[in-house]
Order: sequence, then C-alpha cells, then structure tokens
Amino acid sequence: MTERLYLDRPDDASFESTVLDVRARKVLLDGTLFYPTSGGQPNDTGFLGDARVTDVVEEGEAIWHVLEGDAPPPARGARVAGKIDLARRRDHREQHSGQHLLSAVLLETAKVPTLAFHLGAAVSTIDVKAERVGRELLSRIETACGEVIRKDVPVRATVFKGDDAAREARSLRRPPEAEALASPRGLRVIDIQGVDRDACCGTHVARTGELGLVKVLSAERGKKGETRLTFVVGGRALLAFQERQDVLDELSQELTTGFREIRSRMEKIREAEKASRTEAKALREELLLARATELAHGARTRPGGGTIIVHRLEGGDPLDARFLATKLVLLRADLLCAVAHSGEKLSLVLARGEAAPQLDLGKVLRDVLASLGGKGGGQPHFAQGAAPDPDRAKEALALAEAALNG
Ligand SMILES: [Zn+2]
Repeated sequence: MTERLYLDRPDDASFESTVLDVRARKVLLDGTLFYPTSGGQPNDTGFLGDARVTDVVEEGEAIWHVLEGDAPPPARGARVAGKIDLARRRDHREQHSGQHLLSAVLLETAKVPTLAFHLGAAVSTIDVKAERVGRELLSRIETACGEVIRKDVPVRATVFKGDDAAREARSLRRPPEAEALASPRGLRVIDIQGVDRDACCGTHVARTGELGLVKVLSAERGKKGETRLTFVVGGRALLAFQERQDVLDELSQELTTGFREIRSRMEKIREAEKASRTEAKALREELLLARATELAHGARTRPGGGTIIVHRLEGGDPLDARFLATKLVLLRADLLCAVAHSGEKLSLVLARGEAAPQLDLGKVLRDVLASLGGKGGGQPHFAQGAAPDPDRAKEALALAEAALNG
C-alpha cells in the first residue's frame, strides 16, 4: 500500500520515500506526492532521484512510478527523493476544481447533471445530460461561476469512514461509486463552501479565488441526449483569451475595423464577392458568345453532309464547354460540334443542331472517353463527360472529330 501524500500536501513538490518493490522500469513507493492517473485526471510528472517519472499508475492501493531512460532503478528498500512538476500539478488542480464548480452551477442553475469528466492536455470536457446547451445559458453559468470565484470561498477535503461515509454519501451532488464507498481510505468529500459537495480523490485548489476564470469554449452534441462542454480554467482560460484576442486583432487589422464590426464587414465582403462572381459569369458568357459566333462562321463542311466544329477551351470553368457547345448548335442548325475543356481534368461536350446528321452523340462520347479512361453519357443530340488527364484534350478532339466525320 502506498500512502497518498498528495491528498494532504497538494502544494508540496518534494518528498522522501522508501522503495517497496521494483518491476522493470516501475517503482512502488511506501508514500508518494505523485498523483496517479484516475478519476478523469492525468498523472503528475517529475523526478525520482535523477530519473524522470513519465507515468504514475494505480493498482488497488499501490502506486507505481514509471521511469524514463536506461539507468538502473533504485533498489528495493532504498530511500529515494521525489520531486513533482508543480506547474503541471497547479494546472490540474485548477482544471479539476473548475470542473466541480462548473458541474455544481450547471445542476443548480439549469438542472443539468454531469455524467463524465476528462482533463485533457489543452482543454477539458464534461459530458452533460442535455439535448442542447445554448450560448445564453452558458453565459449565465460562467457568470455564476465567476461570482463563486470572486467570493473566494474555501475548498476543503474531508474523509468519512464507516456509517459517517454512508450518511455523508446521501448529501452529495451525485451518489459516489460503490468503489469509493468501500475504499479502505474512506469516502473523500470535496466541499466548495456553500456551493458543492462531491466525492473525489483528485487534487484541488484551496480557495475558489485561485481559479481566476471558468470559461466554456464550446458545446457540441455528444452521445444521444448528451452535450459535450469543452472548458478551460485559470491559466488555461487566460491563454485561451489571449489566443482568441490575437486572432481578432489580426482580423481587425486586416479589415481595418474594430472587432465588433468584423461580422458586418465580413457580410459586406461576402456580398461583394457574390456580386463579382455574378459579374464575372456574365462577362465570361459574353466572351463565349462572341467566340461561338466567330467559330460558327468558320465551321468546316462535313463530307457526308452538315458542318463540323471541334474546339478546345482552357482556363475558366468546365461548364464553359457546355455553354459554348449549346450556343454553337443554336447558331448553326446543321452543325455537329465537340468542345473540350482542360482544367483539373478533361471535360468533353458533344452537341448537334436540329438539322444536323442524326448521329448518336451519347454513343460517340462513350466510345471516345472509354479510350481515355473516362466516362460520360447523354442523349443522341447532346452528351458530356470527363476523363482524368487534362493534357489529352487534343487526342480526345481528334477521336471525336473522326467519329463525327464518319
Ligand atoms: Zn475532484
């Protein structure tokens, strides 16, 4: 059994202890300040002697310390000095205590219970029993958390055993797990004075003032009937604020406006972009129409009757080929035409005028594209499709021309 020194000495970094057992790179101590991964909270890190402790694992009442590197671990019975990373510990205390406060206020304010907690490397999450948690409710919750933080009330841990534990269990925010009630260490209750009582074995702050700020960054739909809230507390909340401020400052500078005006400015930019797109489309169509007129004049006479145009488009949009072919056959009723467009891939459009020879263009197109590894289809008078290689437009048009001449 390992004595959990961190429970009563959460502010301490250094301790001395005796090695009870060693398994490969894992060391069992008779007492430790290292918090083991449990209850949604990650382990502490630090040093045991000169070796870095990368993981701390709980096995029943035993706590094993996983050492990094190749140096031999301390021998059984040896006295060792341990030192934990206090900055990481402090961060975890802030996130974990902030979670107690957030969960308590959610239940009190909105009757929303917390189902699960995870303390992550950058942000933490709680899963709550609610279909949806809106921004307006979140703002009220954050404000209520802020009030408790400014009151700077004490956060105390008390251990109850036997009948006291059973009685105490009934007064908590959520019923403790059977495991916690049966623990030889007793039932440990974290009390945020006047706000919350919850069974927990994690590390917490001593007063709510240490939390600084509880901020919910997002609320997303989780499992059925649940919502996942992502939140940050204390130092992490300041970092999140700074990060968002930086992005807003950049946007403000870019758009030469105050941050409150960014949204309306973006709306204007979107409108202007839409208008530009419409205008560009109209201009392109005008250009294609002029080209269609010019091409229609130069149509070649087809040996078996009618006329033929094959043409390649580059740049612009693949839909341009369809537009051009459609205009060409309106300008010349006796025309058979093939228009290719080279963009990310090769697009091919075949069309025939009302008075043109009655070739089945759907079949012609399928045959041409099949030999280029592409596919497409359509009707006897109009067909379109695509092939993967845009550089084979010339080949596609030669094949189409031969077929249309036939
Ligand atoms: Zn806790």
